[in-house]
Amino acid sequence: MDFDRIKEKLNILADAAKYDVSCSSSGSKRKNTKKGLGDSSGMGICHSYTQDGRCVSLLKILLTNHCIFDCAYCVTRRSNDIKRAAFKVQEVVDLTISFYRRNYIEGLFLSSGIFKSPDHTMERLIQVAKKLREEENFNGYIHLKSIPGASDELMREAGLYADRLSVNIEIPTKSGLKLLAPEKNHEDFMKPMKKVKNEIIQYKQESKLIKSTPKYAPAGQSTQMIVGATGESDRDIMYSSAFFYKNYNMKRVYYSGYVPISNDPRLPALNSQVPMLRENRLYQTDWLMRFYGFDVRELLNEDFQFLDMDIDPKLTWALRNRHLFPVDINRVDKQLLLRIPGVGLKSVNKILNARKFRKLNWDHLKKIGIASNRAKYFITCDSREKELRDISSENLKSIIMQNSQSKFRKDLSNQLSLF
Ligand code: SF4
Repeated sequence: MDFDRIKEKLNILADAAKYDVSCSSSGSKRKNTKKGLGDSSGMGICHSYTQDGRCVSLLKILLTNHCIFDCAYCVTRRSNDIKRAAFKVQEVVDLTISFYRRNYIEGLFLSSGIFKSPDHTMERLIQVAKKLREEENFNGYIHLKSIPGASDELMREAGLYADRLSVNIEIPTKSGLKLLAPEKNHEDFMKPMKKVKNEIIQYKQESKLIKSTPKYAPAGQSTQMIVGATGESDRDIMYSSAFFYKNYNMKRVYYSGYVPISNDPRLPALNSQVPMLRENRLYQTDWLMRFYGFDVRELLNEDFQFLDMDIDPKLTWALRNRHLFPVDINRVDKQLLLRIPGVGLKSVNKILNARKFRKLNWDHLKKIGIASNRAKYFITCDSREKELRDISSENLKSIIMQNSQSKFRKDLSNQLSLF
């Protein structure tokens, strides 16, 4: 094996894969002190979460960054003058096994530019997964990117070897896709998604009757949307997202701020950047839809097309619905409990459990871990009112923001801890 060439390919194809956020990414600091293949620092190692919540490190690469398409928002587009490379199927297999044996990774995230045709590319992605499973007996995590336009038969085969499949919708609206990727057809994205959804359902049903039924994409399917490449509102983006969750049983929709890479007049200027905060608010909205029982229309609609950047969407909703508050924490049902700002999913379950044994007071709530700096304006929990609530929503927003400096003004990058 020509190690220098492999290393060069790895540099090119791991770098090209970094724009895909369908698995959360962070660099590995582990280094191989001996010379040769296997220096993983900055070379395509990312972290992702499996179905059971385990964090796994993945080798994240493209099979090739050659592409027959010319999507304006993509660094791999045909007209972009960049260094190109392509792995052979066996090279990816060998790299994966070699990194796995060195404990650098526990799995593979494999995507690709489209060369020759969607089917030709998909076949090669499948060959990698198949070889890993059948020849190397590799039981680690495999996430395969599905190529838009690939045939049903190939999509069926891919799910037999991959844990997760994803088709990136990229641009949230049909009109945006037409503008930036006119060679692509919206249906080419929908078809493989539909196929994967149906196969997952079918294999699950069969496995109830026949125990030996193989698993089909057990970690489900996901997709990614680029935010800010076209003029879509947050409403457009989240309505698309709600559509995919509902109709294609998506496990996750990822939101990736557009990184300006081109002078194309159809795209935002090179020096513009989508604020991290916008991505963050979209993820928060996504969580409210998936875990807190919100319908997307309650958060974004004709009157509210963009999310409030000052405060999180749950607090925004509560301030718009003051007539529902304050609620008695000892009596309120789960549905409304989940909607109280500053009370997260874990706290809700703790409150429901604790309520079986005692009447809760503020000290109990503090111990449970609610964010009382927000929650106190929306609940009562003993005879005395904790805070005066006879103030307008606008003033209340200002008060909460002033009292929550760290929450709303400093570190706004941690999507998981904001409820
Ligand atoms: S088909 Fe995919 S890889 Fe090719 S230019 Fe479009 S987005 Fe990029």
